[in-house]
Amino acid sequence: GALRFASSFKAADLTIERNPECKPKPDPSALMFGKQFSDHMLTISWSEKDGWDAPQIKPFQNLSLHPASSALHYSIELFEGMKAFRGVDNHIRLFRPMLNMERMHRSTERSCLPLFDKIELLQCIKKLVEVDQDWVPFSQDASLYIRPTFIGTEPSLGVSRAGKALIFVIIGPVGPYFATGSFNPVSLLADPAFVRAWKGGVGEYKMGGNYGPTIAVQMEAQKQGCQQVLWLYGPDEEITEVGTMNLFIYWTNTKGERELVTPPLDGIILPGVTRQSLLDLGRTWGDFKVTERKMGMKELLEALDAGRVLEVFGAGTACVVCPVGSLRYRGKTYQIPTMQNGPDLAKRFYKELTDIQYGRKPSEWAPVV
Ligand code: PMP
Repeated sequence: GALRFASSFKAADLTIERNPECKPKPDPSALMFGKQFSDHMLTISWSEKDGWDAPQIKPFQNLSLHPASSALHYSIELFEGMKAFRGVDNHIRLFRPMLNMERMHRSTERSCLPLFDKIELLQCIKKLVEVDQDWVPFSQDASLYIRPTFIGTEPSLGVSRAGKALIFVIIGPVGPYFATGSFNPVSLLADPAFVRAWKGGVGEYKMGGNYGPTIAVQMEAQKQGCQQVLWLYGPDEEITEVGTMNLFIYWTNTKGERELVTPPLDGIILPGVTRQSLLDLGRTWGDFKVTERKMGMKELLEALDAGRVLEVFGAGTACVVCPVGSLRYRGKTYQIPTMQNGPDLAKRFYKELTDIQYGRKPSEWAPVV
């Protein structure tokens, strides 16, 4: 009932157990994504019987789980991905973190996991970053990746709502996606035989179950000489997302207007924080039209053929923006002139967002930890 959701843990109840054996920090120029972790982690456990326990920051360690835990069998699991940045002024900033908390809260509701106060969770995450602040790379090309995770730990095999659950947050330094300024364009495989998400499904939530099954498709793309998957949907082969990024097309539309297009949030698109930020910036700048609408493969290929496509790029926390250079579809490879066009717009977005993240440009989007 409603009472079960009526309370939340509180950041004020946090307990901190310091790690007596802190590890040496890696060289920021030699970081691999998601392979190195800091000295501490945050855990918050919940049970139907006792509600939320006090949040704990403790030495980074393995979890101990009952082998029947529902996360392991039925994928009652959700996560977030966000970053902390060390700015030019040595202050540490997050980037629009409430958007991640809100998305996590929506994933939580859809997973029938217990609700919590988003602001309290953000306070706990900030505290974790503070405790491990030396792990935020001293570099404007690297950052600290933050992985909030929420799992069902119900120790029974019935497919039912979890009566026990655990939030944990792990963090670790990550390197640049691109060496400063130099974008490397990616090649995409668009094969309508594969579907990432569908109407009525859970593609708009950040659940682990959406990601595991994409690996085989990613392997297929690599087998065909492509780097990422362009996910299509429906009879019109709507273009939806690219790999784990939202997709943007900057073109001259049929009315002759410069326009930035991205698919609308209609249930099959992950509502990216970067996506929202590019839309907000584009609308604020007012230099071109900004439109959320569907676009099918046919329409994209016609525009490419007519020379109306200027830039195609993915957008996400990992890379900010990622230019697309070519597209393989039904056995044919189509070149996309993203790099030949600068890419002026992708670079402008990249500079604006990284200026905000590294404190080179003051913004409400980047609160100091
Ligand atoms: N689409 C998918 C499927 C993703 O997993 C992600 C990464 N969260 C994104 C888009 C980009 O979202 P964000 O800008 O919040 O990183």
